[in-house]
Amino acid sequence: MPARSNCSDDDMSTQPKPGIYVPGGLQSAMSEARRRALFLDRDGVINVNHGYVHTIEQTEWVPGIFELCATARDAGYALVVVTNQAGIARGYYSESEFLDYTRWMHEEFAVRGAVILATIYCPHHPEAGLGALRIECGCRKPASGMFTVASDLFNLALGDSMMVGDKESDLLAASGAGVLRGFLVDSSKPEPLARVIEHLGRAANSTMERGT
Ligand SMILES: [Mg+2]
Ligand SMILES: [Zn+2]
Repeated sequence: MPARSNCSDDDMSTQPKPGIYVPGGLQSAMSEARRRALFLDRDGVINVNHGYVHTIEQTEWVPGIFELCATARDAGYALVVVTNQAGIARGYYSESEFLDYTRWMHEEFAVRGAVILATIYCPHHPEAGLGALRIECGCRKPASGMFTVASDLFNLALGDSMMVGDKESDLLAASGAGVLRGFLVDSSKPEPLARVIEHLGRAANSTMERGT
C-alpha cells in the first residue's frame, strides 16, 4: 500500500464510501430476514461492455440477463449490482448522469419481473480520478468494500450468495468478502449466462421441493 499523508489514520469515517442507488429508498430495501444475494457486475454481465456505458443508446443487453435475474428471484436471491464506475472518477459522466441511467436500468428490469434491489458503485480511481475521486479506496474491485456495505445494509448472507462477473477482479472481490461462489462469464460468446441460469434453476427447484 502506498503511504498517503492524507489518510494515515484508521478513522473509518474519513474512508471513501461507495455510492448506493435503491429504487424505493434505503428504508424500502431493509429486511428483518437474512437473505442470500446474487451479485452482478454491470459492464460485460448486464450490458455488453462498449466502454463507459451511461446512456440508453449505448445499451445492448447481454443475452439471457433478464431470464437470469427472474430465475434468481424465483430461487430466493436478492439481486444486487456491484460496479466500478471509473467513468465518474475520470469525469466522463457525472454522478447524477450515472444515477439517471441507473434508474432507467432498474425500471427496465422491474417491468420484466426481475426487480433489482440496489446498485452499489465505486466512483473512485487511484490514478485517473479527478479531485477527491482520485483515491485508493476500499470499494473499487478487486477490493471487497461494496459487498460488505451491501451485506450490512440489506442483511445479506454472503456465505450463501453468488457473484457473476466477467473479470477475475469481480470474483476476487466477492470471495474476499466471503461470497460462496463466483461465475466468470464472457459476453462475446453465445448464451454467456446459460450455465448460471441452469445452476439457479436447479436451486429454485430444490427450494420448492424443500417447501412442499
Ligand atoms: Mg465487467
Ligand atoms: Zn471506491
